[in-house]
Amino acid sequence: MRNAKIYITLMSSLYMHIPFCVSICDYCDFSAIAAPERLHEEYVGLVLRELELREGLKNLETVYLGGGSPSALSIKNLRCLLVGLQKQDLKIDELKEYSMEWNPEEVNDEKIQLALDFGINRFSLGVQSLNDSLLKMLGRRHSAKTALAAFDKLNHAFSTGSADLMFCLPNQSTEDFLSDVKSFVSLGAKHISFYGMTLENHSSLQQQIRKKKILSPPEDLYPEMYLCAAEILESAGMERYEISNFAKPGHESKHNSVYWQRKPYMGAGPSAHSYLQGIRYSTPRNYLPWARWVKNGCPKSGLTQDIPSEKGREIEAVWLALRTREGLSLSGYEHEFGKKFSLEKAEPFIKKQWLTINEGRLQLKTSGLLWLDKIILKIL
Ligand code: SF4
Repeated sequence: MRNAKIYITLMSSLYMHIPFCVSICDYCDFSAIAAPERLHEEYVGLVLRELELREGLKNLETVYLGGGSPSALSIKNLRCLLVGLQKQDLKIDELKEYSMEWNPEEVNDEKIQLALDFGINRFSLGVQSLNDSLLKMLGRRHSAKTALAAFDKLNHAFSTGSADLMFCLPNQSTEDFLSDVKSFVSLGAKHISFYGMTLENHSSLQQQIRKKKILSPPEDLYPEMYLCAAEILESAGMERYEISNFAKPGHESKHNSVYWQRKPYMGAGPSAHSYLQGIRYSTPRNYLPWARWVKNGCPKSGLTQDIPSEKGREIEAVWLALRTREGLSLSGYEHEFGKKFSLEKAEPFIKKQWLTINEGRLQLKTSGLLWLDKIILKIL
């Protein structure tokens, strides 16, 4: 048991993975299962037990309930989870941010009230698209109409939150995607995230593409979709504070910023990652091995550790920093890696206006947004 505590000291953010979904989407590569409700009940007890065993979460600032889908839990199970979290000595009432992910078809007044009663103050709604035929192709259970109604409810109930979209979907046109973005702007969204579709080989959608049942994602449209959406959001007063995340001032996600700033956090539940001093730990990916691990007392030996090389740490630090609005602190880099950052290598990109230096920070400019991977390869 003592071992379990080594890697959790000083964590100030907690991610909790709720691994259940009513059905599994065709592109899904998360740890998610469509399981009977008795497993939901067992999960709630086990994940709270995991937190007790991995004690050491002090002065928590952010908590994020993600998945899977936390909103797939019944009112009874969600209440048990929230009560259990409140009972742990985590000072839930003093959090700066307490977020919960929702699927549109699971949003209702009773669940919203429950979340509010327990101090949840931010939502993240998995919309993905407002085109019904694309939603069907993705294997999502909601329609555009359900998503818009869910967003409206959540946006009125919570002081802040995000609509999460995907782009570069098979059969998606630039107009389709931009129309989604505009819809949420006109509904008063304070935060929008959008990610280009990536498909793992084993996903059902990838297999359908291989069998030529549907088209491949339109990768050639990626730059146009991304840049036009960014322009729409920026003209609506939303700032790009991370490559895929746009927010009105004051509505940036504090929890996700912890990941980008490489601050320590702990993940609980199956497949959850923790990060401490450059090392990533992950719990068993699938539900049953994870449940066994918790029942055995969460031994550290049951965690997968990823200890990066010095070079790997450097690449990750620069890559994550350049994704953010603040960019890379040159003095912070020198302090962490014991050497000066080579501006000579960055110079060609500064000349091209892909990178800039501003108050001691190396930052990505709009024209460089699509070239980050190429830039990283050359500057490190
Ligand atoms: S809602 Fe998300 S986690 Fe659940 S099956 Fe769909 S993609 Fe996977």
